[in-house]
Amino acid sequence: MDIEALQLLEKSATPAPWEWNLNLKHKQVSLEGQTRGRETILEPVRWGMGGARFRFFKDGLMENCEDFAVAKHGRDHHKHWCADINHPDAQLITQLRNAAPDLISAANENAELKQKLGVCKETIDRLLDYVSQPPKSNCACHISAPCADCTDYTDLREVLETANSLIAQATPQKKVES
Ligand SMILES: [Zn+2]
Repeated sequence: MDIEALQLLEKSATPAPWEWNLNLKHKQVSLEGQTRGRETILEPVRWGMGGARFRFFKDGLMENCEDFAVAKHGRDHHKHWCADINHPDAQLITQLRNAAPDLISAANENAELKQKLGVCKETIDRLLDYVSQPPKSNCACHISAPCADCTDYTDLREVLETANSLIAQATPQKKVES
């Protein structure tokens, strides 16, 4: 999954939210956005005596899907009967769907990692109770470097600082498990 490509595509597509709009009375169906009131993202229209074609919104107009036809990867010779639609909204629909399993496992993995991180932070917090604090810095490196204070305590001070900052960043979000 190329998350950067997906992010770019998401930015160039019509902003969310999207919704289907089915008009049973007038026999019309469209996918709608809500950026400026209601706007059509795609709608099917008659296409000769064949099937129907989708129209997509571009530069203030609904343009026919064939205007966005591009050859699929490695299928240049098939462009006239099996082309892709190079419109961000059309691409977002297929690419998001194709990326859905990866996106869902990434979200699950993220939740798991957060949970583990919470345990780590709690453990650090408990461990800190057993650590005796180093004395206040009394560096004498200006006399002879490195001084005893630095050699004895620099590492401990650093690790305590990191631990305390991790604890401070800990945001105990008790998530509702579904
Ligand atoms: Zn020192």
